[in-house]
Amino acid sequence: MSTSERTFIAIKPDGVQRGLIGPIISRFEQRGFKLVAIKLVTPPRELLEKHYADLSDKPFFPGLVSYMLSGPICAMIWEGRDVVKTGRAILGATNPLASAPGTIRGDYAIDVGRNVCHGSDSIESAQKEIALWFKEEEIVSYKHSQFDWIYEKP
Ligand code: GDP
Ligand code: MG
Repeated sequence: MSTSERTFIAIKPDGVQRGLIGPIISRFEQRGFKLVAIKLVTPPRELLEKHYADLSDKPFFPGLVSYMLSGPICAMIWEGRDVVKTGRAILGATNPLASAPGTIRGDYAIDVGRNVCHGSDSIESAQKEIALWFKEEEIVSYKHSQFDWIYEKP
């Protein structure tokens, strides 16, 4: 399992407007994952329709797209070992009423249509979603830093 595995995590408009960016980022940081890209965006409808293309025949699809268009989204890429699967575990089950307490959805949400966050469900989806939401130059690398994070001098 690669330590450079990446996943796409988004804080949906309800999460942004409820002030949950900080707590959600904290959970990923505290677990040890690395934030390699972040931006606040109000994407065009076409991007959201592509993002949720697999669900386009579901009755809730139009409502889902309008909800995602209802305000800024905090789009992020997180990196680390097994981050796709573990990211989903940190988010909790799709339906917040089925999400365990201690997960983001289990702590902050009740309705499936207002479930605060998105996370890629497989490595392949993560790659597709990252390419859809981010340009290569928006993603940083920590690997080549010559500086220590904490100490100026050894
Ligand atoms: P996820 O990967 O856990 O986000 O779940 P899905 O990919 O299955 O669905 C995408 C999003 O569509 C979910 O996060 C929900 O916001 C929404 N959604 C899924 N199922 C339902 C549903 O039955 N009703 C409504 N209103 N929204 C749903
Ligand atoms: Mg999904």
